Amino acid sequence: MRGGPVIAVDGPAAAGKGTLARRLAEALGLPYLDTGLLYRAVGRLALDAGQDPAQPAEKFAQALTPADMQRKDLRTPDVALAASKVAAQPAVRAALVDTQRRFAAEQGAVLDGRDIGTAIFPDADVKLFITASPATRALRRFLQNGGDATAADAQTLLRDMEEALSARDRADASRDSAPMCVADDAHVIETDTLDAQAVLAEALRFARERLVASRA
Ligand code: C5P
Repeated sequence: MRGGPVIAVDGPAAAGKGTLARRLAEALGLPYLDTGLLYRAVGRLALDAGQDPAQPAEKFAQALTPADMQRKDLRTPDVALAASKVAAQPAVRAALVDTQRRFAAEQGAVLDGRDIGTAIFPDADVKLFITASPATRALRRFLQNGGDATAADAQTLLRDMEEALSARDRADASRDSAPMCVADDAHVIETDTLDAQAVLAEALRFARERLVASRA
């Protein structure tokens, strides 16, 4: 029996899951966990050790500390790619399951990732799948990183970013172990034409409806 509701926020890279999940957690008074940071931290440790992240990396996952997840160098493209490679390893995923489940045990939680509603919490009270076209996601990530959309090289940089995001999505969706996919009972929000406020409003509407129904 959990001490509060679990809200799963899944979806592809740079779809706005993190922003939404943080705001949902604030609005509902729940703790928030960005589970991508777990895989990024493992990928980072593999790179630091001079190891190819596609090689067995469970020892890094087993020894992960909170400090590893608070590092400031986890948001780079090379770490994102390393994260996706370690995340394809069943032993790495298995080593991180308990941490995620324990996080929500006391008060419930909002967690964002790729497999929260399908593998970590198949019984989550609320499941959301947040998505947008690769072009929209690339533009958002570009601007988030301080990119100038009017610069001469903007189109090339945007195309490279879109390709990198799409390649990571393909890897995450096609791996054998807990691939990214939409849970049968997830509410899909396409965010191409919505701003962050509108996404939050729609997610809150759905979450409250589900939470009320589950108490009835
Ligand atoms: O969400 P973020 O982009 O930080 O995740 C980095 C990588 O970690 C993803 O591309 C994916 O391979 C992996 N990941 C995962 N399962 C999760 C969260 C992230 O496989 N729940």
